[in-house]
Amino acid sequence: MITEYKNEPFTNFGLPANKAAMKKALAAVQLEKAAHYPLIIGGKAIDTEARITSINPSQTSDIVGTVARANIDLAEKAVQAANKAFSSWQYVDAAERSLYLFKASAILRRRKFEFSAWLVEEAGKTWAEADADTAEAIDFMEYYARQMDKYAKGMEVTPYSGEQNECAYIPLGVGVVIPPWNFPLAILAGMTAAAIVAGNTVIMKPASSTPIIAAKFMQLWEEVSLPAGVVNYLPGSGGTIGDYLVSHAQVRFINFTGSKEVGLRINKLAADLSPGQKWIKRVVAEMGGKDSIIVDSEADLDEAAAGIVASAFGFQGQKCSACSRAIIIKDVYDAVLAKIVEKTKALKIGAASSPESNIGPVIDENSYKKILSYIEIGKTEGKLECGGSTAGEQGYFIEPTVFSGISPEARISQEEIFGPVLAIIPADDFDHALAIANGTEYGLTGAVYSKNRVKLEKARREFHVGNLYFNRKCTGALVGVHPFGGFNLSGTDSKAGGADYLLLFLQAKSICEKL
Ligand code: NAP
Repeated sequence: MITEYKNEPFTNFGLPANKAAMKKALAAVQLEKAAHYPLIIGGKAIDTEARITSINPSQTSDIVGTVARANIDLAEKAVQAANKAFSSWQYVDAAERSLYLFKASAILRRRKFEFSAWLVEEAGKTWAEADADTAEAIDFMEYYARQMDKYAKGMEVTPYSGEQNECAYIPLGVGVVIPPWNFPLAILAGMTAAAIVAGNTVIMKPASSTPIIAAKFMQLWEEVSLPAGVVNYLPGSGGTIGDYLVSHAQVRFINFTGSKEVGLRINKLAADLSPGQKWIKRVVAEMGGKDSIIVDSEADLDEAAAGIVASAFGFQGQKCSACSRAIIIKDVYDAVLAKIVEKTKALKIGAASSPESNIGPVIDENSYKKILSYIEIGKTEGKLECGGSTAGEQGYFIEPTVFSGISPEARISQEEIFGPVLAIIPADDFDHALAIANGTEYGLTGAVYSKNRVKLEKARREFHVGNLYFNRKCTGALVGVHPFGGFNLSGTDSKAGGADYLLLFLQAKSICEKL
């Protein structure tokens, strides 16, 4: 019997048993470090001379592992394998497809600490952040497996005399799944699981900074004996194989999460017909954010400051949902700013593997340099309140950084930095704050701290973001509870983890039989 869906609980690392289990998992990962992982195409392992080396961002001399690097010929092979698998997978009963997800999620739950340990080492996630990533991956599989049951029943149609009518949901075909590195397990798992449970087959191209966790995820599908070719593991540079896959005539859809620049490029390329292509490709593109938290004059200021600091600096600010703009009404500006600075200074920077660390490293050298250059820009646009420097020599550590007195139009207020940099923006009143909050090209998450019902209701109507929160932080959406996706240039508002999400990977077929 399938039980009711429930979110996977987060691990309490305060309990000695959990702490010990995580330490044991981290030690086990050390023993497996520097292993090599081949591509998996049509169920077969294929190695290449070219490799991608995955580095531990907490300690850059530490190699987490290597993976094969696909070229265009191998990308073509992957499309053919997925196409071949689609010819039978599309007809596998939906309940049976769901069963593969349930089995994979059961294994993931049993090996939760191990997967979280890989996230610590490869993505630089602190224990709590890694645990949340693994829990979300479990949630996606459990949630979509259950949702499929609803779509397997088809669309409701009106009875009509003399005819038997139905409207069935059928899959689309071969898809390309392109995730970012920042939720290298959860987003990869969610985008893949949704597509395949709906009866599609996919090419899973992991982000090049985090291909090992994706290789581990691929092993789950192998362990549950998912038919060959339903999921193909194809690490490779987005720049090299990405365009080829996206433009391929036999690719029916692209499920992308990542930056605005890459998302828009994919959308454009996918719109062009390739020779032999017989459909309009579907593009799901969830992209960047420049997310604001508004603090009203009538708010719990301690809670607001705590929510801002957690949203701005959790996973070093490398979340699309991260608060990178705190918009504070002038009456409480000084008080809230002081609290934010105090709480930020209390954060402990250190290797992600240490249970004491609140702030780990940023993902790689490119991000490190990009964030530091934005800190220099910030110094010219406002007052540096705290942070502003690198920390430690062995990894990509940057201090959590707060700039005050930032104008809404400043670059650090408008451009996605994707790092631990917070811009504090003063506002004259609540209406002004809302206008500032809506004044970017993005529209992903936002939060309002206020005790005033009228203001909250105004924000409910006018704060134009896909995920709006009142009196809590703007990160930490839960599968099934807070369907996730953004407006404007934050993407296609696909609402991952929502009850409608699977429809994006299905098409409806009306069948009428005259009686
Ligand atoms: P990215 O640079 O856009 O990369 C995302 C993925 O696209 C990677 O797998 C990348 O592969 C691939 N790629 C690069 N060029 C490509 C091309 N020409 N064709 C096809 N694929 C290509 O983003 P990121 O740095 O990994 O992730 C950070 C971004 O993701 C931020 O902007 C963040 O806001 C956004 N994000 C959004 C959400 C959301 O739900 N809205 C969630 C998480 C993250 P390579 O790694 O090989 O280059």
